[in-house]
Amino acid sequence: MIEGPTYDALLRDTAVALTSAGIDNVRFEARLLLGHAAGLGVEQLIARGGDPAPAGVVTAMRELTARRVRREPMAYILGEREFWGLPFKVSPAVLVPRPDSETLIEAALDLLPGRERPLRILDLGVGSGCLLLTLLKEYPEATGVGMDASEAALVIAGENAASLGVAARTRLVPGDWRKAGWADLLDGPFDLLVSNPPYIVTDTISALMPEVANHEPRLALDGGADGLTAYRIIAAAAPRLIAPGGWALVEGGEGQATDISSIFAAAGLSPQIPRKDLAGVERVVPALH
Ligand code: GLN
Repeated sequence: MIEGPTYDALLRDTAVALTSAGIDNVRFEARLLLGHAAGLGVEQLIARGGDPAPAGVVTAMRELTARRVRREPMAYILGEREFWGLPFKVSPAVLVPRPDSETLIEAALDLLPGRERPLRILDLGVGSGCLLLTLLKEYPEATGVGMDASEAALVIAGENAASLGVAARTRLVPGDWRKAGWADLLDGPFDLLVSNPPYIVTDTISALMPEVANHEPRLALDGGADGLTAYRIIAAAAPRLIAPGGWALVEGGEGQATDISSIFAAAGLSPQIPRKDLAGVERVVPALH
């Protein structure tokens, strides 16, 4: 019998293939892909490096590598992404949770101190649930409503709510803010409205990294002609959705914080100083009702 490639050889081949696809961190990604294909942890991969890999692992690895070479995001291939130290299931129906969005969680914890408060939280465009469900973990007495226009996204959010143990405090509502009357589906008022709405200028989407432009859901990215369409809709409904003294915390893209603040001010809320992410980008606009 001819022996197949060893685990180490598979790692090397994958790293070469990923390099030719213009990907960085290829050793790291190759190890993650092989661990996923083989169902092995990093230590086991190292210990067995010189062993021939089973045929099933070789085939699986070929398929996973081909997907990554097409610049499918690692999170979709692995089916999971960590956010705020919590594991979130992801699929191409939802935006991949990003470290930038942890800025919004930090802002919430800072502006709404007292973890035992029975906060009512609303997440517009809930996606994987990374914002809403993380907040429900941090505020154990809080309840949350997550709206999304994508039924497939709501399925993922529901699975994450269950695996994180917060399903009993989570209500997921199909709803599309592009359609009149959407806010009536949500039984507010809420103490905290959070959202990471689509904010990319339509014409610039194709220039983003291929992982984003070709694989992430357009619905979660496309912010219209000036990138700000969703903020206008959300801000207009905010005074009705948010209780007096409650907060809106919305994420935005680089250079958008001033415009987002103006939009919320025009709707009657009081925008506060934007919160910066780790790269120094003004990432989250807090607005008080
Ligand atoms: N953060 C995403 C990006 O960098 C955009 C997500 C969004 O539009 N909300 O491409």
